[in-house]
Amino acid sequence: MPLRYRSWILLILALAVLVTSGSTSAKSGRKPRRHADDVTVGRGSASGSALPPGSGVGAPTRQSGPGQQPTGASTLVLYDTSGPYGWLGELYGMMAANLVSHFGSWTAHPVNTYTLGELSRYTGVVYIGSTYDEPLPVAFLSDVAGSSKPVVWAYDNIWQLTSHVPDFAIKYGWNWSGFDTTPVNGVLYKGELLKRYVANAAGIMNYSTVGFTAQAPAWAMRTDGTSFPWAVRSNNLTYIGENPLAFIGEGDRYLAFADLLFDALAPTAIERHRALVRIEDVGPTSDPVKLRAIADYLFSRKVPFSVGVFPRWRDPLGFYNGGVAETIVLKNAPTVVAALKYMQQKGGTIIEHGWTHQYRNISNPYGGTSGDDFEFYRVTENADHSLTYVGPVPEDSTAWANNRFQQAAKDFRAASLSVPSIFEFPHYAGSAIDYAAVAKAFSARYERSLYFRGVLSGSPIDHSRFAGQQFPFVVRDVYGSLVLPENLGAIEPDPWFIFPARLPAEIVDDARRARVVRDGFASFFFHPFLDLSYLKATVEGIQTAGYTFVSPSQALGGTTFSTQTAIQSGTSGGGSGSSNAGSGRSDDDDDDDDDDDDGDDDRKKDKKDKRND
Ligand SMILES: [Zn+2]
Repeated sequence: MPLRYRSWILLILALAVLVTSGSTSAKSGRKPRRHADDVTVGRGSASGSALPPGSGVGAPTRQSGPGQQPTGASTLVLYDTSGPYGWLGELYGMMAANLVSHFGSWTAHPVNTYTLGELSRYTGVVYIGSTYDEPLPVAFLSDVAGSSKPVVWAYDNIWQLTSHVPDFAIKYGWNWSGFDTTPVNGVLYKGELLKRYVANAAGIMNYSTVGFTAQAPAWAMRTDGTSFPWAVRSNNLTYIGENPLAFIGEGDRYLAFADLLFDALAPTAIERHRALVRIEDVGPTSDPVKLRAIADYLFSRKVPFSVGVFPRWRDPLGFYNGGVAETIVLKNAPTVVAALKYMQQKGGTIIEHGWTHQYRNISNPYGGTSGDDFEFYRVTENADHSLTYVGPVPEDSTAWANNRFQQAAKDFRAASLSVPSIFEFPHYAGSAIDYAAVAKAFSARYERSLYFRGVLSGSPIDHSRFAGQQFPFVVRDVYGSLVLPENLGAIEPDPWFIFPARLPAEIVDDARRARVVRDGFASFFFHPFLDLSYLKATVEGIQTAGYTFVSPSQALGGTTFSTQTAIQSGTSGGGSGSSNAGSGRSDDDDDDDDDDDDGDDDRKKDKKDKRND
C-alpha cells in the first residue's frame, strides 16, 4: 500500500504569501506600523479553477445559521472586505461562524454594514480584523464601547477603537504599542504551551500598558525566550493580537481562541474532555483479520469507535493489477463484511467514506485507485508531491453527488449493512455543491472541511479561493451540516517526501494541548494496515491525558446512553443511524457512469485479498 493517503495533510498546511507593504498610511489617528498582509488560506489560489466564475451558483449561501443546538445564544460575526485581500475576510468570517455555531445561532456580514444598536440583539460579537485600516463604522465602535455584551476582537483595526474612546487606556487598563514581528513559536495558555507556526510573519500586537485592571489570558512566546501578551481582556472586550484563524495546525494557538469563545458565549460551560477514534479507508480489500483485532482491542479498552468505509473498490487503470481493470463490491468480500459486522458488535459505527474513494478512470491524482485518489474534487500532483486543488469535477452537480450517495447506499444494503448516516469526504475534499448535497442527505459529516469564497456572502462560488478548517468541537457549519471534529490527524510511522511522520507521542502531545478547550475533543484516525501497537499507544495516551472516548452518536448529543451500554448493545452510534436516508437517497437511480465493470468481482477477489498484505 503506497503512502498516498497522506494528501489530507495538506489541509493543515497553509501557504503563505507575505506581501511586504508600505509604511503607515496618511490617514488620521494613531495607528501601528502596517504589518505584512497574510494570504494564508487560499491554498488553491495559484492553480486556477476548473470552472468559470459563477458556475457554483446554486450552492447555498449562508448569512446566518441555526447553530449546533438551540441554546438561546446568538452571535454576530463581522468581517472585513476592503483592500486587495478583502476576499480573505469572508473566508475568516466563515471560519468564525463555524466556530460560534457550537454555541448557538449566528449571523455574519461585512463589518461595514453594521448598524447602530445591532449588537444589542445578540449574545455577543466576534470581529475578525483582517484588512489593515478597514474603515469601521462609527456605529460599531460606539456599540463596542457602550455595550456590556461580550466582544471578541481579533487582530486589525483595534486602533480605531482606541482612537474612538476617550481615555481608552484608563477605561480598559491597556493600550497597544504596535505589531511585534519577532519570531513567535508558541502561545502559553492555561499553563499549556500551544504551537504557533513560527514563519507566520504577519505580526502580533504588542502593548505599551497592560495594567492591573486588565488580564492577559494568553502569552506569545518568542523564540528567544521572552514573551508578551497574546490576548488581553477587560470590561466586555477580549482582544487577540493576531488572526488566530490563519495557519491553523494541530495543537495550535487556535485552541486558545476556541476556548476564549466560551468566556464570551457560554461562560457557564462545564469542563469535559471527550475523544474520538476512526479506523480509516476500510474497503472491500481490507484485511478482515486486522479489522477484528482492532475491534477486540478497542472493545477491551471500552472505546467506541468509527470505521470509515467505501463500499466499492475500483482500480480502473489496473494500477495494482498489471494494467487490468478491476472492481470489487463489498458484498463480494464476505469476510470483510463479516469483520465489519463484528466491529459493529464491538462498538463500531460505520461512516460512509465516499462510494469508491476515486474518480472515473483517471488518476486523481495517483493511480485512479480506491483509497488513494480523490472522489469529489479534481486534484493534480506536482513534482514535489504537493497537490493542486484544481476545482470541482467537470460533471459536478447535486444530482451527480446524490447519485454517488445512492450507489453507495445500494452497495451497503447489498452487503446487508445499514446505510451510514454520517459522511466523510475522501481526502476531505468536495465542492460547495457536494457539501450542500451531503447536508441534505446525511445527519452529519466527520472530517476537516473546505470553505469557498461565496458560500457566506452569496457571491458566485470561487473554488480557487478557499480555507481548510478543523474543529475542536462539534459545529453546524456554513453548509448546514453538523460536523464531528477531527483535530489530531493520523498516525504516520514514516515520512513520505514532503509529508512528515506523525507518531503516537506527537498525537498524544497535541491531545494534551487540546485540553485547553474546556469542552473539546481529541480526535484522530488510524489506518488498519499499520501495526496495532500504534493504535494502542495513541488510545491509551489520550486516555491517560484525561479524555473519555465516545461514539459519534454520543458526540453529536443525539443519545445519552453510556459507553458501556453502547458497547454491550452492539449498536454504538446507531441511535439515529438508520433513519437518515433523506429524499436524495432513494434507490431507483442506476445510471452511474462508471458502474460498468462490477460483473467480475468474484473471480478477482481472492487475488485482491492476498495482495493487500
Ligand atoms: Zn480516505
